[in-house]
Amino acid sequence: RIVYVNGAFLPIETASIPVMDRGFLFGDGIYEVTAVLDGHLIDNEPHLARLERSLGEIDIPNPHSREAWTEIQQALVARNNLSEGLIYLEVTRGVAERDFLSPAGLTPTVVMFTQAKSVRTSAALAKGAAVITVPDLRWARRDIKSTSLLAQVLAKRAAAAAGVNEAWMVEDGTVTEGASSTAFIVTKAGEIVSRPLSHAVLPGVTRRAVLRLVAEKGLTFVERPFTVEEALAAEEAFFTSASSLVMPVTSIDGRPIGGGSPGPLTRELRQLYIEAALEGR
Ligand code: PLP
Repeated sequence: RIVYVNGAFLPIETASIPVMDRGFLFGDGIYEVTAVLDGHLIDNEPHLARLERSLGEIDIPNPHSREAWTEIQQALVARNNLSEGLIYLEVTRGVAERDFLSPAGLTPTVVMFTQAKSVRTSAALAKGAAVITVPDLRWARRDIKSTSLLAQVLAKRAAAAAGVNEAWMVEDGTVTEGASSTAFIVTKAGEIVSRPLSHAVLPGVTRRAVLRLVAEKGLTFVERPFTVEEALAAEEAFFTSASSLVMPVTSIDGRPIGGGSPGPLTRELRQLYIEAALEGR
């Protein structure tokens, strides 16, 4: 596998990052993950826009223009012959002697790699994903796509220990989002509900695309927080992310959702999302 580090394309075995990199020492960095389908970057513009915003919020200069980022991503996809999978990119504040404060004018570290995996088909898809709820232990600026992911790692470990696919994080009685996804429910009244954007959640790129499809279909989307009880009583539930696209949820904390199988609206949104993504819309 060929990876990209600070301007160089290298075999992964020989690529390395200095011990004093602030991404390693402090989690002082930002990342993005874009899906690749049929060799195409999916929804990449909004991922690069969010990257720019996240970097700005923590005062790391964006090392590349959107055009330059896209060129590097496409070059890496080509060098790895990647047809389907993910492309990960990370920007850290750079390398300096360990201190909370860093010298001015540091050069950010840039790392990029691909992961070949099937995105359109997944083991969880046919019967739907099982989810547990966990307390949301994260910091107060979850709108920033920071590489400091300890709370999400713990949530994913709890999910794995429970034998389920994803953890939905709960704060003050309402679901904020999944450990690596945006949470949605479909109410008995047919309303599609997800939390409004704020500092409490990451503004999902897939969420945004799904909302456009919902509007095009003339369906009702309601942006409001929902409780675990509401989710348990929902007609359907699903989560969205670059790596899972639109994933049906068929159980929460061991209790079946809807009929316990993927809901029709969720399946349709997944299909529409994939079609639109491949058309480059
Ligand atoms: N929320 C969190 C906490 C995430 O980590 C992710 C993706 O990794 C998402 C939501 C979904 O975002 P996107 O659709 O942009 O992949």
